[in-house]
Amino acid sequence: MEKSKICDFCGSQDSGENQVLAGQDSKAFICKNCIVVAYRMVGDEEGGSEEILDLKLEENDTSIDLSQITPKTLKAILDDYVIGQDQTKKAFAIAVYNHYKRINAKELMKDSDIEVSKSNVLLIGPTGSGKTLLAQTLAKFLDVPIAITDATSLTEAGYVGEDVENILTRLLQQADGDVAKTQKGIVFIDEIDKIARKNENVSITRDVSGEGVQQSLLKIIEGSIVNVSAKGGRKHPNQDFIQIDTTNILFIASGAFEGLDKIIQKRMGKNQLGFMNMEQNFSVDTDTEEVLKMVETEDLIHYGLIPELIGRLHVISTLNALSTEDMMRILVEPKNSLIKQYQGLFAMDNVKLEFNKEAIENIAKMTLKRKTGARGLRAIMENILQDLMYELPEYKGYEIIITDKFIDKQDKPILMKIKSSKQSA
Ligand code: ADP
Repeated sequence: MEKSKICDFCGSQDSGENQVLAGQDSKAFICKNCIVVAYRMVGDEEGGSEEILDLKLEENDTSIDLSQITPKTLKAILDDYVIGQDQTKKAFAIAVYNHYKRINAKELMKDSDIEVSKSNVLLIGPTGSGKTLLAQTLAKFLDVPIAITDATSLTEAGYVGEDVENILTRLLQQADGDVAKTQKGIVFIDEIDKIARKNENVSITRDVSGEGVQQSLLKIIEGSIVNVSAKGGRKHPNQDFIQIDTTNILFIASGAFEGLDKIIQKRMGKNQLGFMNMEQNFSVDTDTEEVLKMVETEDLIHYGLIPELIGRLHVISTLNALSTEDMMRILVEPKNSLIKQYQGLFAMDNVKLEFNKEAIENIAKMTLKRKTGARGLRAIMENILQDLMYELPEYKGYEIIITDKFIDKQDKPILMKIKSSKQSA
């Protein structure tokens, strides 16, 4: 019987859509996706083309070839990596598509007076629900640089802490010093809700209310020329500052916005005094997620974001908290799912790793208890597999099945000898 082929690089199994090819003597395996990635990496180093993905991003022409891309294609890419969050994936795919379409249109109509204003995105949802992952996935696919930052680490210029401008330095570094590429990148600002204005929180020494940081952010979000420290930018070793035009940078702000549902409910309750509409009659225990979907600008102002900043975040979308079912799917389904990654890691020692369904459910439930969203999955998996990984070389040639009993520490994992690949060759 032929051994089932697993890619040694990413752990994917041979399938119709992602074929795994065997090397000489079937000693090594690589899947089509990894061949594409490797081709691109080699191409990048040699200044080669990216034709394989039909996305041409050359030095002086950083326009993205949108002829192959539609909001549906972007959504399909997101579906490969992000589980659930269907509405947000759709809204996000449209927003990103429109953003780059506007930029391209602007380049084509350089001499025209038509101003295409950009829309930035605000993602509202619990921690670990996929907000950053959405942005990272599309940035990678579109081959645009992305800088991810935490709003709480930012300060107004002149205060101790990280200047808002530093985000752009990081973006420039991600673009390897390429200014044109930087100017079309993505800036992701997490925990924007934590810099909400809080009236009672006034300090003499430092702006902890966050309003000053919001003002500083506004300057770069609304589109301006910013002097950015070039440290790390390999193409401009002798320059201290580089001017970055932020007009075409896509800003994505995100946060959990705890308590926002109460503000929305209050507003809607107030509205009901005028319009007694049964459908809008939310009771206190109405599903928080449903309430959050009704968010309006005034609620965010109430929460403490400054109106000018909200005015720049045109696309607002909410993400749901992940369910046990979602967590189980996250473990298995994404192209680079955790289980696939560990299977790849084990396969390098010629060990086949499998999980029974109950084990996967257990891991999902344990993760939910931690209240850190899917972010907690890795630590739990690491914990479960730690001893096995310590002894991994001793299991060479075996299949290990992780069961719920093993996770509950009631039993050992199931071990089965597998036929060596040489036998099947
Ligand atoms: P946040 O919503 O706080 O930005 P992230 O997007 O950073 O959370 O999620 C943390 C990690 O959890 C991701 O890198 C990914 O591995 C996993 N994850 C979170 N949400 C999802 C999801 N909806 N689908 C697949 N993986 C997810």
